[in-house]
Amino acid sequence: MTEIKQTIDGNAWWFILSEGKIVALDRGDYIPFGTISDLPFPNGLIDNKVLLGQYQNSPCYLIEVEANLDVGLGEYVTLRSLLGNVADKLFDMAGRAFQIALFYKTHQFCGQCGQKMQRIDWEIAMKCYHCQHRAYPRVSPCIIVAIRHKKKILLALHNRHQNAERPMYTTLAGFTEAGETLEACVEREVFEEVGIKIKNIQYVSSQPWPFPHSLMMGFIADYDSGEIQVDPNELIEAHWYDIDDLPVIPRHGTIARKLIEKTLKRCR
Ligand SMILES: [Zn+2]
Repeated sequence: MTEIKQTIDGNAWWFILSEGKIVALDRGDYIPFGTISDLPFPNGLIDNKVLLGQYQNSPCYLIEVEANLDVGLGEYVTLRSLLGNVADKLFDMAGRAFQIALFYKTHQFCGQCGQKMQRIDWEIAMKCYHCQHRAYPRVSPCIIVAIRHKKKILLALHNRHQNAERPMYTTLAGFTEAGETLEACVEREVFEEVGIKIKNIQYVSSQPWPFPHSLMMGFIADYDSGEIQVDPNELIEAHWYDIDDLPVIPRHGTIARKLIEKTLKRCR
């Protein structure tokens, strides 16, 4: 991150956040892009900008503003509404902006001695100058797994999706516990949620999931043994679905969709 030039006279991407929303345009790449002088920012808005990284060779900045301040362009939208509508890497950067803003908000005081923490300017971290404790943005590892059984795929209706207009059926997922390998986590989560054993666990890819700070690590696996028995605390129902007769599944742009499509290909 340190090698990115922090020139502010050239073009940059601006991730402007307020009260859990982000400023988006209704055209182009959605995220405001341009030089500071191109953009109708009120005076003083950029004083607390935070360099997030770069996208297409231009720096990306986080700016946090007071509640619903009119910054003179676009409107405030939810992060979720950008998913699948902006380029994947731009969405990931917007997610990074949200995670870092949340990190600053939730680490104002030292977890070790209780004194006020300060931002440091050479990396994204908070430091306590009283006891020297340093904190970094929190990332919570999660596994997500699509399971195949012959020509069928296991899909579940999660509690959190049951009230949707068209309830969505998806893969199983869960947080990694302290001291646990990802592979052990996949086996445990599947057994806890649906009571079956799986085999041939293979890593596919990952996706940052900034709701609020997960890192989804995607796997595929095959059924081994057992009957489906759902954990009612997590799931409404789970079934083996024929690949030609699927319920509503997650939208493109999500790792769940990618794992489901990979599993469908394996069934064919
Ligand atoms: Zn401290």
